[in-house]
Formats: sequence, structure tokens, C-alpha cells
Amino acid sequence: MTSADEHQPAGDRPEPPAPAEGRRTQETAGSSPVRAGSRVVIIGGGPGGYEAALVAAQLGARVSVVERQGMGGAAVLTDVVPSKTLIATAEWMTATDQSAELGIRGGAEGASVDMAAVNRRVLTLAARQSQDIRARLEREGVRVVDGVGRLVGDLRADGTRIVRARTEDGEEDLVAEIVLVATGAHPRVLPDALPDGERILTWAQMYNLTELPEHLVVVGSGVTGAEFAGAYNGLGVPVTLVSSRDRVLPGEDEDAAELIETVFRRRGMNVLSRSRAAAVRRVGDGVEVELTDGRVIAASHCLLAVGGVPNTEGLGLEDVGVALTEQGHVRVDRVSRTTAVRVYAAGDCTGVLPLASVAAMQGRIAMWHALGDAVAPLDLDAVTANIFTAPEIATIGVTERDVQEGKVDAVVTQLPLARNPRAKMLGIREGFVKVMADRHSGAVIGGVVVAPRASELIFPLAIAVTQRITVDQLANVFTIYPSLTGSIAEAARTLHQTGN
Ligand SMILES: Cc1cc2nc3c(=O)[nH]c(=O)nc-3n(C[C@H](O)[C@H](O)[C@H](O)COP(=O)(O)OP(=O)(O)OC[C@H]3O[C@@H](n4cnc5c(N)ncnc54)[C@H](O)[C@@H]3O)c2cc1C
Repeated sequence: MTSADEHQPAGDRPEPPAPAEGRRTQETAGSSPVRAGSRVVIIGGGPGGYEAALVAAQLGARVSVVERQGMGGAAVLTDVVPSKTLIATAEWMTATDQSAELGIRGGAEGASVDMAAVNRRVLTLAARQSQDIRARLEREGVRVVDGVGRLVGDLRADGTRIVRARTEDGEEDLVAEIVLVATGAHPRVLPDALPDGERILTWAQMYNLTELPEHLVVVGSGVTGAEFAGAYNGLGVPVTLVSSRDRVLPGEDEDAAELIETVFRRRGMNVLSRSRAAAVRRVGDGVEVELTDGRVIAASHCLLAVGGVPNTEGLGLEDVGVALTEQGHVRVDRVSRTTAVRVYAAGDCTGVLPLASVAAMQGRIAMWHALGDAVAPLDLDAVTANIFTAPEIATIGVTERDVQEGKVDAVVTQLPLARNPRAKMLGIREGFVKVMADRHSGAVIGGVVVAPRASELIFPLAIAVTQRITVDQLANVFTIYPSLTGSIAEAARTLHQTGN
């Protein structure tokens, strides 16, 4: 997951094999067919692992999940759930910015943040979510093994493999017809910026803070960096964002990224573009962040958000014939097969697209395929993604850059939310809806929404893209008046082709 921070697909994905579609029992060369009743062992209990476990149990397999940290994995314990819970508090604080305009006295000035209470809530919520997932799995008959798993030995004559789990009670060998590796990734650190867990922090360590930082430097302006920088800025913390690129959120829709950078700067964030951190040092009760051009920024805390490293070491993968990429990701095809018979892999350890939703889908696909259910190969064009800044950025399908580079023949329209009546009532001035449609058929093939709760508003566009709905069909759907979704229908209407 070297590119986790950018939420970008890894460029070195192996070519997909012939799609395996339709309901059938999967047979792999040199082994007997696998069916319901098979033993499935999953290493890693994040979204890739636990969603696969649910599917496998539903299909009648006997399923064990070996997890070392807690069910839900990094997604629930350190990444998605904690960060979005923190952002929920920041959103409330950001909303008070507009309270005066809406006629409320004392809003922005009256509110302050109790960081210890915020992080207590974050960690409690994450722990509960983890327990809920475990309880759900156990209700479905899945065995959860608290321990560290690894593959040992090769495929045995009877077509099974061994996953050895190291638990508090010692070692246990789990026999499996099917193995799924869903071990995720961990934060990357820089050699001259080693986290101390107090002042120099990875995102996983941010929830130990009991007081607001006096000045937070965020190194890395990909999705994780931008989300944390925006959140802490929203909580009232002075933030410096060190971005190695021309603008924040490289690789995202350019209009959206530009808008977010403008919002960041307007809210007082110090965005240092084309700047790279060379070293981060602990100095007394603070930190010094040294940039490659020699500048030094003094601050109270530094967050390193420079991507992730796949958890693929020490799993015995190469020993059993699982090929890794140069970055250490497991090579998989579009039905999650690795290069070893009956060993599948899903999620961030594959580097395909570091999103919880993609990990979950890869895990489900693996089980549908392995257990002979109907399965369609992973389709990355249909992935909706969201960046939880304020406003949020949600995307689906082709990008405007794809259109500009001639990869698709499409028409593009963009409507500012400032013209939307509901947005005016809500005091929303920033944000837009962008729709991309196939020039010939009029089918909606891509969209961007930049708005508060864009993560919810993108759904009509996601349905349109995945169901090949045309702009005319979309425009003819009744929307609520007044509503932000009215802008989506309006954008679709502007793309109506008159045939002139
Ligand atoms: C700060 C942050 C915010 C994010 N926000 C979002 C978001 O809003 N939406 C979104 O879709 N994605 C988000 N992501 C990405 C998302 O967290 C990952 O894509 C997702 O966690 C991948 O799921 P996974 O199952 O592959 O791995 P993980 O969730 O990392 O789970 C893997 C589990 O396997 C365990 N494990 C590893 N090795 C072993 C072993 N040998 N034995 C036993 N257990 C093992 C690990 O400890 C871990 O618990 C975010 C990422 C970050 C860093």
C-alpha cells in the first residue's frame, strides 16, 4: 500500500485472467474441486477478511479468521472508523463558522474542543464496532482465532494447506482447502522521522492525544494528510501542511483539489506546496520538521501521512509460491487469486486500491470464486470514493482528466452549488457537481460531487454510472425541491443532446 495515502490503484497490477463468471464450482489445475463444507482460513480480520468470512459462512464453508489486533482490522481500529469519528467532531466545529451568518449568536466563539473526550469517544466507538463485528461473525458460525497467522508448507496431497496460528496458548495448525490473505498495511515512516508516539506520530497514534496540539505539522497531502489537516484545522489547531506537489490531493479531480486547497488557506492553514520533509526531530516538548530546502518548521506535533507498507512479511508467502510485487504487495488477478493454488488475497496487502469497500469486495469475490458461486471480476471503474474534508469530495467513474487526455469521448458539465437554492439556505457557498457523459449514447460515465456530505450525494451518480443510465433518464427523475440533489438532475439536464 505504498500509495495508500493517495488512494490510487497500484500501477503494477497483474493482467487479469480470463473472467470467471457464472455459477459454477471452481476447479484449479492439479487439485480437486472445492465446495460448500470446505475449510476456509482467513489471515486478517479487516474488511477484506471479515466480509469474506461472512460470504464463506453463507455458502456453507467452515471458516476460521486469524486476527492479531482485533476484528475489523486497521479499518476499524486505527484508520477509517477513528478518523471519520474524529472528523465528525471537526464537522460540528466547522459548521459553527457559519452560525453568525445564519443568525446564531456566540456559535464559533462559544465552542471549544475537549481533546481527551473526543479521543475517548473515538476509541470507544472503534472498540465497540470491533466487538460488533466479532459478535456478528460468531453468530454466523465463524471461528475467530486471536493470534498471528502464517502459511507453512506446500499444498498437500489431499489439496489442503496449513495455516499456523500463534496464540497466547501456543501454536495451532489450521487445515484449509482455501486460504485468504487479508493482512492489510501499516503506516510508512521515514528513516529520519521515526515516530515516538508522543510528538512524532503516525495516524494510528493520533488518538492517544489528550490535548489539542499547539501547532500540528502534517507531512503528506494525499487523502490521509488532507483529511487530518482539515480535521485538526476544524478543531481550531494551527496546521502546517507539507505537500511535495504543486497542490494538495494530487491525482484527484483538479477542480476539487484546488477548491479544497483554497478552503484550507482561507481557514488559516499554512499549505507549503512543493516542499518535502527531510527529517523530523523531537526537540524538548516539541518537534522540528526540516525540509529538503533547509527550512525548519518548529511545532508541537508532527503527523506523518506518507502512505502505507503492505503487511506481507513473515507470512510464508514466497515459500508457498505467492508472488509479490516489487513494493511487497501480493499479486492478484481480478478474482483475487494469487499465484499459488487456492491461496487468495484481498485488500491493502494487494495494493489494488486502498479502500475498505474495495478490500471487502475483493474478499467477497475471492470466496464466491473459490466456493463456486456466481462471480464477476473486480471492476475498479465502478468504485465510489470519498475524501472526508470539509467540503467532502466524492467521485465515481471516469475522470475529467480521462476526457482531456482522449481516453474517453465524453461531454462534461460542472454546476457550482452556490446557485442551488437549498445550498443558499444552508449557507453553502463552496462546492460543485460535475457529470461526465458518453458523447454518443448520453450514458453517465463519471461524476464528482464536492459538498458537505458528498459521500451521500454521490449515490445517484453511482447508480447512473453502474446501471448505464443516460443523462436524460437521470434528468427526468423527480428531485426534492429544494435539495442539493437538484443540482445533479440539473447538471444532467444541461447535457441533454438536442441533435443540432
Ligand atoms: C487514516 C485512514 C483513513 C482511511 N479512511 C478510509 C475511508 O474513509 N474509507 C475507505 O474506504 N477506506 C479508508 N481507508 C483505507 C482503509 O483503511 C483500508 O483500505 C482498509 O483498512 C483495508 O482493509 P484490509 O482488510 O485490507 O486491511 P486492514 O483493515 O488493515 O486489516 C488487516 C488486519 O490483518 C491483521 N494482520 C496482519 N498480519 C496478520 C497476521 N500475520 N496474522 C493475523 N492478523 C494479521 C492486521 O493487524 C489487521 O488487523 C483509510 C486509510 C487510512 C490510513
